[in-house]
Amino acid sequence: MNHFSDDWKNLKHIVLYGYGNVGKSCFSKIKSDFSVDFIMDKNTDKLKNCIADVPALSPKDGLAALDGQKIIVMTGGRVFQEISDFLKTEGLEEFKDYCGIESFITHWYWEVKGLNCVMELHSALTMDCTLKCKNCNMFVPFYEKSVSYDISQLKEEVDALFKYVDYVFCYTLLGGEPFLHKQIGEFVQYLAEPYRNKIGTIKIITNGTLIPKQETLDTLRKFNVWVSVSDYTECVPYQKRLEDLKNVFENNGIDYTIARQSNWLAFGFPTEPACIDKEKCAAHMKSCSPIFHGYNDKKIFYCHVAWSAEKIGKYVLQGKDFVDLEKLSVSERHMIAEHCLGEIKDGYISFCRMCGGCGRDNTNCVVCALQM
Ligand code: SF4
Repeated sequence: MNHFSDDWKNLKHIVLYGYGNVGKSCFSKIKSDFSVDFIMDKNTDKLKNCIADVPALSPKDGLAALDGQKIIVMTGGRVFQEISDFLKTEGLEEFKDYCGIESFITHWYWEVKGLNCVMELHSALTMDCTLKCKNCNMFVPFYEKSVSYDISQLKEEVDALFKYVDYVFCYTLLGGEPFLHKQIGEFVQYLAEPYRNKIGTIKIITNGTLIPKQETLDTLRKFNVWVSVSDYTECVPYQKRLEDLKNVFENNGIDYTIARQSNWLAFGFPTEPACIDKEKCAAHMKSCSPIFHGYNDKKIFYCHVAWSAEKIGKYVLQGKDFVDLEKLSVSERHMIAEHCLGEIKDGYISFCRMCGGCGRDNTNCVVCALQM
């Protein structure tokens, strides 16, 4: 193991730090593999409602209660960096006392269990959308032609993925607006039936403007799909529709969460692309450090944003920006884990030079979902 101290090898008891979206998507698999002694989170009241049998402690109380367990920080990007800074001020060391969830899933499971695991993959079903957000981080308003995947392509992609990957902790379907895809239910069923033992959580991210048809709702409930609804009503007036959707989800027993959003970080591309110096680009990508990666066209993208930049016809990707499963042999499958961890030539993907990103070095905060 390159980073972890030797005592990580026989891990049985662990402590989790944080239970937001990442915690929710990874918890069931982590809990089936380890004894989770307690969870540290700023909001212990919230945790009491969602995790019944694991004690929730504040970070201060959690640190005082540690008894040699390793801490897995259940988040990535800038929030991970803030927590990591805090833990270091408390005298803890990364890869000795704690690590981020993606390092753990990708690196630890490979080294100790010999499993090629990916934390979260995002697959776009369609880039058609019901909104036209100026600062969409998937550049939806800039698609001149409709890009949608038919069900046979989607199934082939999943088959190709699981030739190389043993387990995906969270498989996320998005767009565009994924509920515009007429066969979303059939695709969920394909993920959930043959591949159930290879996927932890199946998640859909929607903007909440569409009510899925009854057949789709039945499939979501049957396979325990988590729907994360982005609430843009501070900027776009669809409060009534969103309320209707919540009622439909409640009445149909759908597991859903509402992510209320006010601000986004603008990436600049394609209208005002960033121009990051080559020398600063590795630090720029590290500051961003997405822990969810793109999967479309049988390619795994460290950053899905880069995939979309090429799809709109405004950027040409380089070979280091993705892992092409059609060119991979089974003996090279560790390259997927390396790519997801950001072990990329020069320390960055080429598109990072054009992109403001979502790290601490991007200060271009804008109102979310401003319509064009
Ligand atoms: S800087 Fe942009 S392209 Fe690079 S990882 Fe971040 S979001 Fe992706």
